Amino acid sequence: MAGLGEYRRKRDARKTPEPVPTDDALPVGANNIFVIQEHHASRLHWDVRLERDGVLVSWAVPKGLPTEPGDIRLAVHTEDHPMEYATFEGEIPRGEYGGGRMTIWDRGTYETVKWSDREVAVVFTGNRVQGKYTFFHGGKSDKDWMVRRSDPPQRSDWTALPDAIEPMLATLGALPPDGDNWAYEFKWDGVRAMARVDGGRLRLFSRKGNEITSTYPELRTLGEELGSTQVWLDGEVVAFVDGRPSFAALQKRMHVTDERMTRRLAVDLPVTYVVFDVLHLDGRSCVDLPYVRRRELLVDLELRGSHWNTSPSYPAEGAAVLETAREQELEGIIAKRLGSRYHPGRRSPDWMKVTDLRAVEVVIGGWRPGEGRRSDVFGSLLVGLPSPDGLRYVGHVGTGFTDEALRLLTAKLHRLDRKTSPFCNDIPRDRARGARWVRPTLVGEVVFRDWTPDDRMRAPSWRGLRADKAPDDVTEWSDVR
Ligand code: MN
Repeated sequence: MAGLGEYRRKRDARKTPEPVPTDDALPVGANNIFVIQEHHASRLHWDVRLERDGVLVSWAVPKGLPTEPGDIRLAVHTEDHPMEYATFEGEIPRGEYGGGRMTIWDRGTYETVKWSDREVAVVFTGNRVQGKYTFFHGGKSDKDWMVRRSDPPQRSDWTALPDAIEPMLATLGALPPDGDNWAYEFKWDGVRAMARVDGGRLRLFSRKGNEITSTYPELRTLGEELGSTQVWLDGEVVAFVDGRPSFAALQKRMHVTDERMTRRLAVDLPVTYVVFDVLHLDGRSCVDLPYVRRRELLVDLELRGSHWNTSPSYPAEGAAVLETAREQELEGIIAKRLGSRYHPGRRSPDWMKVTDLRAVEVVIGGWRPGEGRRSDVFGSLLVGLPSPDGLRYVGHVGTGFTDEALRLLTAKLHRLDRKTSPFCNDIPRDRARGARWVRPTLVGEVVFRDWTPDDRMRAPSWRGLRADKAPDDVTEWSDVR
């Protein structure tokens, strides 16, 4: 073994709290001590160290030890550490080698099955980790090793973390009459996001299953804070402005993927991930558990940080929660049946969306020019919903546009020009006069108060283009009305 020369070269005993032995006299032990340290350095990793001939032979494992045999993970062979390191926990100062918080994740004893220059197989007996693991040389450089679990998972009922889970959706409705059987949460005006965390790494997915991780870099640290916890979370990405959710602000984040741009926006216009459900946790699926039990598991995760928190839930008292939502100018509330399971990918009456505002996706079929100083952009949009007869006109939207949205949309509309109305029903004459028609390909989201007796949206307001949607994705008129 190499001894501690490299270890000492990398560290200054005056600047780091780590043990730095001054001489090469090595302790004599039984070659059976191990420690695994969770190290929040610039990149989170777990340091796995095995006592061998008076030093701790070490690997830095970026995602930690795998829990299942098929999952082969990178393990970077690092310099031998002194035996004293087996009890080290602390904060290594920023700027020093390995700067960051280090905690002991597990320790115990191990048995050697095989030990060669290219392969080390051991059986751990720790508090958290039990079983056989094999480290093997797997690359060009001496540092490039891999690690796999050579035993079945520790628990016989272990269920692997799924690659995808579709979100459960709420049904629009009123406060339930059996109010005591429900809990109530605020409805956050943002975008739905499902988070998968494995090996301290967070991946974020949209309602449709598209990966949106890179759009919100400020949420990366949530994965690191969860450490080795394997979990699927459900929640809403929200941009708070002056303490209130601002969908307009969030729109500036939603479709940005350029790395430099997302990093700048993460500072200038940060989002918060408001978590409201846990769907899988450390080898167990939670979707069959009742809401109240999932809620307990969620609360136990203590998700509260710089860019994330846990959405509050209030048992019973639905009317009071709805009143608070109105006072706070929130969109509304979601009532969730206490005993209900999670239905992935389904719209269920176990979740009721109670709101004064309705949101609907619409297809743009035409526009009316603006007036006065707005004559170079559109004044309002004529929108419709799909129906068996074709696109059915449901109203015109003239508010809710940012200046930027007005400009961008006007340019798009000009490119879609057509001579005749794409709507299958008649448009009120005062709306049709001077209107410009477009090919019905753009989908947007609109909120409105209510339906009028003649099936038009009352007081609609624009929320934004849905670039991720096509007219075929839009819910038919008969299902919305
Ligand atoms: Mn380390």
